[in-house]
Amino acid sequence: MALRLLYLLVLLASSACYKTVVLQAPVSKSEAIYQVRAGDTLYSVSKRHGTDYRTLARRNHLHYPYTIYTGQRLYLRGVAPRPSYIPLPKRHKKPVRGRSVNGKKRPGHGVVKPRPHKRVSTARHRRVVRLSWPVRGKVTSKFGRRHGRPHDGIDISVPEGTPVRAAAEGDVVYSSRRLTGYGNLIIIRHTHDMFTAYAHNQSNLVRRGTHVKRGEIIARAGRTGHASGPHVHFEVRRGPTPVNPLVYLPKRQRKRR
Ligand SMILES: [Zn+2]
Repeated sequence: MALRLLYLLVLLASSACYKTVVLQAPVSKSEAIYQVRAGDTLYSVSKRHGTDYRTLARRNHLHYPYTIYTGQRLYLRGVAPRPSYIPLPKRHKKPVRGRSVNGKKRPGHGVVKPRPHKRVSTARHRRVVRLSWPVRGKVTSKFGRRHGRPHDGIDISVPEGTPVRAAAEGDVVYSSRRLTGYGNLIIIRHTHDMFTAYAHNQSNLVRRGTHVKRGEIIARAGRTGHASGPHVHFEVRRGPTPVNPLVYLPKRQRKRR
């Protein structure tokens, strides 16, 4: 039985809201990182940068069918840090039928046909995920590198106590503060191997195993863990891969009451 693993977070590890939590190898400045854009394939990216796609796949721990996602960071020279793992709760260990796209297993558990030329389908992914903003506020830190370190999410500044809402329907697979640095953290698993994470909460209002609807209040924003001020550190992962949340969120934050 394949163990279903949540590569989480630890996601976070690389999150630069703080400087601790070093679960990933340090990244030297000489390592070039490419952020995947719509229309890219692993093959096209490797060709453009004069690398063999198999080499690029190895450096980024990608397996057949080499699916890459808009917003994903590809290490062109160095070797990407391996994702860390947190086991899912038991009820997620059995195969979940009908949840993954086309019933495929996720990368790494794999057995799917090689399709290195597969294109990134932004439209499809957007349709699949359809996230909404967890809070309304100013984005004070974007996805990508910050002070020379990767930042695997976005920071949204809000007053302490602001309701934090689920970005989409899903199951809470983590609600705790065991991960140093993230303070009170919630992770929700959505369909299609997608996860969202909400860190630094003043308090978590849902427990692991809870099924939540989009827009449901799951926490109160705060500054627990390593945070310089009250904000929501929001991450989106497709499988183990951190992706730019702004790609999956509506352009404008809608006003909530
Ligand atoms: Zn952050």
